[in-house]
Amino acid sequence: MKKDMSIEEFKRRHGYVINGIWYPRVTSIVDIKSKPALYYFYANAENFEAAQEKKTKAAQEGTIVHEILESIISGREIIVPPEFIGFKRGFENFLKEHSFFSKQEWIEKRIKHSNYRYSGTFDILAELDGKFSLVDIKTALEVYDDYRLQTAAYYYALNEEPFLIDKTGRKIVLPKFIEKRYILRINQIQVCEICGAKKYIRSMGDKIKGGDSNCNHKFSDILDEWELKEFDNPEEDFKGFLACKDLWEWEYRDYLKEIGYL
Ligand SMILES: [Zn+2]
Repeated sequence: MKKDMSIEEFKRRHGYVINGIWYPRVTSIVDIKSKPALYYFYANAENFEAAQEKKTKAAQEGTIVHEILESIISGREIIVPPEFIGFKRGFENFLKEHSFFSKQEWIEKRIKHSNYRYSGTFDILAELDGKFSLVDIKTALEVYDDYRLQTAAYYYALNEEPFLIDKTGRKIVLPKFIEKRYILRINQIQVCEICGAKKYIRSMGDKIKGGDSNCNHKFSDILDEWELKEFDNPEEDFKGFLACKDLWEWEYRDYLKEIGYL
């Protein structure tokens, strides 16, 4: 890859500095892997700009959803805008069916793996159904296999150094090792009362799945949909992550050599 930005810009875009040391970010590393679903997304967009705008809106929606869930966990009252109420209900309904305990200091913290030298920010650690678990929140319409790579990287970092780092660089020691990792997918939907089609309500544009395309849909009020998916076999996924990391290091080798990372 030709160098087209400054070293400082590269470091900012692709990593975090933790206690004075720069580490590449997990999300940047896994981005090196080709994602076929993304090509469909771009192919179906009107143009490149429209697709970029949708991606921005999706990211903003993700941020708001994270904030809603974190406020529920930490017992903070926040006003949820009506267009996001389904996400809030989805999380509340998930809580009704699982035993779940988390706390402020287990939410959205930075972690690093010192041996493999990468960093990241996970979503939530929780005692979930009796096991200390890593829970990543997604609002995509399905749980993609690619999420395995990201969560395996966090899982191994947490179990290598079972502490978190808050914004001031302070260490938060974890009570035990992470036993399980999950994706919690939450969406807000409307269901057609005639054909059963589901309309996913999203900032980036609604999407109708299933049902009869000739139906003159009569959609219900906003409902929620949630799915908790456990990922087994972290060893296999971590190997995949490290393969991404090797390729990522090759792609950016000129920057990384200058930084002194390679
Ligand atoms: Zn219908």
